[in-house]
Amino acid sequence: MTVAGEPGRDPVLPDADLDEARLRFALRIRAFAHDMLAPHARRIDEDGGFRRECVGELAAAGILGGPIAARHGGAAWTATELAIAHEEIGAVCGNTRGFLAVHTGLVSQCLERHGDDAQRAHWLGRLVRGDAIGCFALTEDDAGSDVAALQTRALPTDGGHRLTGRKIWITNGGVADVALVFANADPARGKDGITAFLVDTTAHGLRRERMPGRELGHRGSDHAQLVFEDVFVPSAAVVGGVGNGFAVALDGLHAGRLSVAAGAVGIHRAALAATLDFVTARVQFGRTLDRFQMVQERIADMTVELFASRALVHRCARRRDLGVETDGDLAMAKLYATEAAARACDHAVMLHGGRGYSTAYPVERLLRDVMGLRIYEGTTLIQKGLVARAITASRTRR
Ligand SMILES: Cc1cc2nc3c(=O)[nH]c(=O)nc-3n(C[C@H](O)[C@H](O)[C@H](O)COP(=O)(O)OP(=O)(O)OC[C@H]3O[C@@H](n4cnc5c(N)ncnc54)[C@H](O)[C@@H]3O)c2cc1C
Repeated sequence: MTVAGEPGRDPVLPDADLDEARLRFALRIRAFAHDMLAPHARRIDEDGGFRRECVGELAAAGILGGPIAARHGGAAWTATELAIAHEEIGAVCGNTRGFLAVHTGLVSQCLERHGDDAQRAHWLGRLVRGDAIGCFALTEDDAGSDVAALQTRALPTDGGHRLTGRKIWITNGGVADVALVFANADPARGKDGITAFLVDTTAHGLRRERMPGRELGHRGSDHAQLVFEDVFVPSAAVVGGVGNGFAVALDGLHAGRLSVAAGAVGIHRAALAATLDFVTARVQFGRTLDRFQMVQERIADMTVELFASRALVHRCARRRDLGVETDGDLAMAKLYATEAAARACDHAVMLHGGRGYSTAYPVERLLRDVMGLRIYEGTTLIQKGLVARAITASRTRR
């Protein structure tokens, strides 16, 4: 059986789309995902636990600090390399790819850009080496898509601020050593009061609780609520300046969103690979399923959308590398890649029939995981708004 993420050239998505250097890079990450992540991907989904060992493995392979500059211990990947790597990891383990989007994208990359020398010296090397885990605490009960509505308060005090509030759905929240926390230091100024703080998770008054209920997917990830009860954070912990937290948050999400889009391409690829194996082997009515036109129609849709999806993600990454990326480029990539992957996973389960409904086959996990990618880091509907805004703005400017 062939699976997406198997070492060597991918039989589904022609690796010929990549030049030689990028293909070598993709094959290296593919081999890592196959050797180190694939053996655990199903088990951590079923057991529902974060596999801490993956952090050291990702660090040793140079993936944890992939996009971070070499002077901070990273591998200085381009955005295109990041898209390639996170596609490969996403094809094998959505939990690990999700961990990376937060730890590396939302925390390390954000700290690299917005932190000061002391903050980078204290945290960035540890994050890159895997000696510390990061989480990004933005969402609250009443502030999801509407980030500016956050209620966590940062009360100015001697030498710093005191944080009070509750964050929910925080990926890595229960295992993180440092949290990038967004709180309002001056509610009268609305979003211009929002400030980012680097908070050591051992800080007095910070409590971590498991999210209630069981997640649909990403069950091998850690999702927690962070409760702040008058937590003192020194002035040195402010990232990007008091009142600049809204921009810091959006910039963090900007880094992480490319990982989500690339991860969706990986899930899509895995769904197609598993489906091709299945429909070319399963016989009904005296022939293999791939001989039926309605099955062919779905296979064609899954294939064309995969190529379109990857092209949009790589286009966005390429434009990021050239410094000409727009919000619309990223929103289009995230919107299309996650929705196309969800359609592909839906087809994959249907084409597997009853087997697709069982954990004995890989596709039900892909379908559950992909739902998360449509929601976090800006839902599909929010991305649609961004795309529409970008395109109408280009018309009204003329
Ligand atoms: C697996 C997972 C991991 C996560 N990890 C993190 C994390 O690490 N850190 C963190 O801070 N958060 C995290 N989140 C939270 C996530 O970012 C939010 O769930 C998401 O932004 C949506 O917010 P919400 O759930 O409050 O939904 P709401 O904002 O209440 O939206 C509900 C529905 O209304 C729609 N809607 C809202 N506003 C509009 C609008 N203006 N126009 C059209 N439709 C609209 C939305 O699209 C959605 O369909 C995570 C969530 C999940 C599921």
